[in-house]
Formats: sequence, C-alpha cells, structure tokens
Amino acid sequence: MKLVFLGPPGVGKGTQAGRYCEHANVPHISTGDLFREEVRSNSEVGRKAQEFMDAGKLVPDEVVVEMVRKRLAKPDAEKGFVLDGFPRTVVQGEALDEVLEELGMKLDAVVSFDVADEVVVQRLSGRRSCKDCGALYHIKFNPPPEDGKCSKCRGELFQRSDDEPETIKVRLVEYKEKTEPLENYYEKGGCLVRVDASPKPDEVAEVVRKALERPTD
Ligand code: ADP
Ligand code: AMP
Repeated sequence: MKLVFLGPPGVGKGTQAGRYCEHANVPHISTGDLFREEVRSNSEVGRKAQEFMDAGKLVPDEVVVEMVRKRLAKPDAEKGFVLDGFPRTVVQGEALDEVLEELGMKLDAVVSFDVADEVVVQRLSGRRSCKDCGALYHIKFNPPPEDGKCSKCRGELFQRSDDEPETIKVRLVEYKEKTEPLENYYEKGGCLVRVDASPKPDEVAEVVRKALERPTD
C-alpha cells in the first residue's frame, strides 16, 4: 500500500511505520531521517535544512518536495511505501498529489495519529535512536538494553538535539499552525483514517493493521 502517516512530532509515526514497513516489506520514507542523513554528509540539501531543524522549524517546502520527488522515483517505491513526516503543509500535500500523478501512483490511505500534547512531550523527551539502523527506544516506555547499545544491530544510541523542551515547544506550534490543516485536506479527499495513538505500540499497530484492511470504510 501507498500510505502517509500524519500526526504531531512524537506521536509514534516512526515506531508504527517501522513495524508496518518491516511486515509489508516496503520502504519507510521518513523526511526527518533523510534530512538528518543529508546533514551528516554535509550536502547542499543538508546545509539548507540544518538551521531550520535545529530551531524546530519546518524546512522550506521546495527543498522537501524535491527530496521526496527523487526518493519516490526510486524503483523500490513502486510496490508501496510509508511516508513518515511528509507532507507537513498543505502546499506539500498538493505537491505530493502532483508527484504521485507524474509517477502514475495513488495514495491508498492517510493514517492520522493523535495523542494529548503532554504525552507527546513525554515521548519526545525520553526518545533514543540508534545511529546505525534508526531503531527507536524510549527510556521509560521501551527501554534500550542496559549496555546502552541497540538490541537489533549493537549500534550507539543517541538523543536528538531537537528533542529538548524549548525546541519541542516550537515543533508543536509549527505542527498546529502548518500541519494540522492537512487533516481537513485529506478528510475532503476521503482517504483519512484516524487512530488513537495513546495505547502501547503493539495495540496501536493492531488498530492500524485492521483499519488498513478497509481504509475507506
Ligand atoms: P514520531 O516519529 O511521530 O516523531 P516516534 O515513533 O519517534 O514518533 O516516537 C517517539 C517516542 O515515543 C519514541 O521514544 C518511541 O519509542 C515512543 N513511543 C512511540 N509509540 C509509543 C507508544 N504507543 N507508547 C509509548 N511510547 C511510544
Ligand atoms: P522528524 O524527524 O519528522 O521529527 O523531522 C525533524 C525535522 O526535519 C523537523 O522538525 C523539520 O525541521 C524537518 N522536516 C522533516 N520533514 C519535514 C517536512 N515534510 N517539511 C518540512 N520540514 C521537515
């Protein structure tokens, strides 16, 4: 299936996309991960994106859309994908429609995850990620092994610099102002599936799986 996972930072999009994609054997396309990779390799895109990311602001639409256009044109996206963290503005949503049309593709569903703001803050402030495989942990809700290494690949874990309280606040304001209107955009398009992301990851995954069996009901 060709899916978009929508929702505020920290709601669990990456966690759910990781599970779904492993099971369905489709690429997990996280624009945040793609940008972090660009920053690490000090590419032109990375240099353009970094100041926005550090401030918790959205990277300008044209930079993101170009990156996604290239990614979706790769052959592995033909069989399906999950877009995690894209689109994040209505302009990006419209651009995605155009890109998909050019590629002869169509979205099957947009899954919109929701939890209370306090939960988002709790989830983000305890998040740890593996620098090698991207696996996600939480110091309280999904603790990593005692030696502090990734249980999947033994890679080092790190805390994202934008997961600190002041930047989290800015990211939530950006979300409400710029990303939330997309719910309406996709609701009108008739492919929005709403999921309560407050239960445990396994339970959320089960609700997603069931909802996607009949996404337009
Ligand atoms: P997003 O991709 O939406 O920013 P993540 O998937 O990275 O969110 O999750 C943010 C943090 O919350 C991570 O530390 C993750 O382990 C944790 N997390 C994700 N889903 C849940 C859940 N259902 N219950 C508790 N913690 C969760
Ligand atoms: P994420 O990993 O999804 O939390 O994204 C981390 C950061 O990357 C965001 O705070 C933005 O600065 C940037 N970013 C990721 N995806 C997008 C997008 N679709 N539009 C604009 N900025 C983005």
